[in-house]
Amino acid sequence: MYFHEAETLERGKLEELQVERLKKTIELAANSPYYSEIFKKNSIDPSIIRTADDITKLPFTTKDDLRSQYPHGLLTQSLDNFVRLHASSGTTGTPTAVLYTQKDLDTWADLMARSMYSVGLRKSDVFQNMSGYGLFTGGLGIHYGSERLGCLTVPAGAGNTKRQIKLIRDFNVTGLHIIPSFALYFAQKVRDEGYDPAEMPWRVALIGAEPHTEHTRRKIEELMCIKAYNSYGLSEMNGPGVAFECMEQEGMHVWEDSYIAEIINPETGEHVAEGEVGELVMTTLTREGMPIIRYRTRDLTRFIPGQCKCGRTSRRIDRIMGRADDMLILKGVNIYPMQIEKIIMGIPEVGQNYLIELINEGLMDQIRVKVEIKEEHFIEDMRALQGIQKKISSMLRDEILITPRVELVQHNSIPKTEGKAVRVVDLRSKEA
Ligand code: AMP
Ligand code: ZN
Repeated sequence: MYFHEAETLERGKLEELQVERLKKTIELAANSPYYSEIFKKNSIDPSIIRTADDITKLPFTTKDDLRSQYPHGLLTQSLDNFVRLHASSGTTGTPTAVLYTQKDLDTWADLMARSMYSVGLRKSDVFQNMSGYGLFTGGLGIHYGSERLGCLTVPAGAGNTKRQIKLIRDFNVTGLHIIPSFALYFAQKVRDEGYDPAEMPWRVALIGAEPHTEHTRRKIEELMCIKAYNSYGLSEMNGPGVAFECMEQEGMHVWEDSYIAEIINPETGEHVAEGEVGELVMTTLTREGMPIIRYRTRDLTRFIPGQCKCGRTSRRIDRIMGRADDMLILKGVNIYPMQIEKIIMGIPEVGQNYLIELINEGLMDQIRVKVEIKEEHFIEDMRALQGIQKKISSMLRDEILITPRVELVQHNSIPKTEGKAVRVVDLRSKEA
């Protein structure tokens, strides 16, 4: 059962469609001040695209390029044709703004509805969007997708756990959109409020917007008694609904009739071999107001080889392993926060949250990992706690090759933000 015929297009046909849409995208992009200059400089026009692989003839677009063009440099039409603005969640420097025409919003809502359909949500579902609204695309993006699918849609927004639970119970909410770090916290809150998650009406959760491991997904599924599906998107490519897990939960289908995905070696810019990890590069194929070509997402993933059991023909990407910018270099070793999460969330005594702190230890940099421990283990004696601490520390050493400091803390003691979780804090300058 599919929402749109594009989901099962034969690969040859899909590529034909991509070529046609890529040509159109180049033609449209040439109307923006930014791309018109780039295209002139590099003698680019639609005729250089004959196959989908010819996309490599086009230059990359980076976050810095978008920043330098803020606020209007990428628009292909006059401002009065646009009806919505979103911005990426970066907290520093000039934001990157994304503007949508009404047609762009419609296309996006269709993609989002398709994504929700692929995880078993239907018109008869009641869907609560528990992520923040505002400039963040996870609010209105998911909201309009849910309405497009025909669900009764509850724009609950972030926070206010008690009201969330009341709405879920009173309106028999069957589908949720929730950020993974908040889901872990929320699962506990539901219990603290005296409810059994198994008796809640929910069935399906869309989780995304931030990197998380398979262990974290399983933990959310177990704690909430729900099926959780990975949802990937970024403002520069509209927002959510770019790549989505199907019910097989074996990687995220990229909606390739609307986006071309490439995975490159971030150093050389060349495509990596099939199945190898690299930086995801994305091109819009169905956006008219602000097309973006070969956008370097900085997100690290790989294509999953082979075809999915669900019958969809689109390629799948693996869960995001982290962002190229998240890499920590400590004592000469490269470490990604997700490597740490992978270990921590697999340990049974660990509760719902953790925090990585970069500290000074003498003249050296060191990592301190604060780990919330389940309540029942916190009342154990010192020796048992030390045992847990040692176990975590040695398992982390095996993964990241250096021995971090591990500090066990009580559950719910690490501050929780409502939006995307802050996983790493740099305390080095303060403690020096
Ligand atoms: P923004 O445009 O501000 O909403 O941020 C988009 C970024 O959020 C992406 O480039 C990813 O780094 C991250 N992100 C979104 N969805 C996921 C996901 N399912 N897994 C991991 N990271 C994600
Ligand atoms: Zn599938």
